[in-house]
Amino acid sequence: MILGHHADGAMNSVHEVEAECVAQDARARRAVEVERLIEEFHADLKSGFVVETPGKLRRIVQHFRAHIGRAENVAPRCNAPWVSAVIESSGDVRPCFFHPAQGNIHRQAFTEIINSPEALSFRANLDVATNEICKRCVCSLYVSRQAENNAKP
Ligand code: SF4
Repeated sequence: MILGHHADGAMNSVHEVEAECVAQDARARRAVEVERLIEEFHADLKSGFVVETPGKLRRIVQHFRAHIGRAENVAPRCNAPWVSAVIESSGDVRPCFFHPAQGNIHRQAFTEIINSPEALSFRANLDVATNEICKRCVCSLYVSRQAENNAKP
């Protein structure tokens, strides 16, 4: 929405303009707060004490901008379905928090579920960069090959 006019060219009401100004102000403050945090905790980010990267923190701002149509939805770097799984309290097993369940541990063994034809096909065909669910994702997990090797006993 452009301040002052609707998409059809009609004028916005004073309340709509006020609401948009407040929203823009809140977004600007959020972006500034994130940058302030990145600056304040620079040493902790650099040392790895704070695990997330500045890029991932800035993505929070980008996500909210996209949510209100002010930016493109951009999928994060993520390999969650290839390195992890989500088991819900119901027993449902998902490849990550947002994609549909592929089985239930009360009916099948966990290894059967994650190695089922459906799960293998899902992982073989998922393109995180273009998948619509991934493009709206607020969380991501990326485990590098190096991290996997370091975790081995
Ligand atoms: S980007 Fe999000 S929705 Fe897509 S696989 Fe990763 S965690 Fe799941």
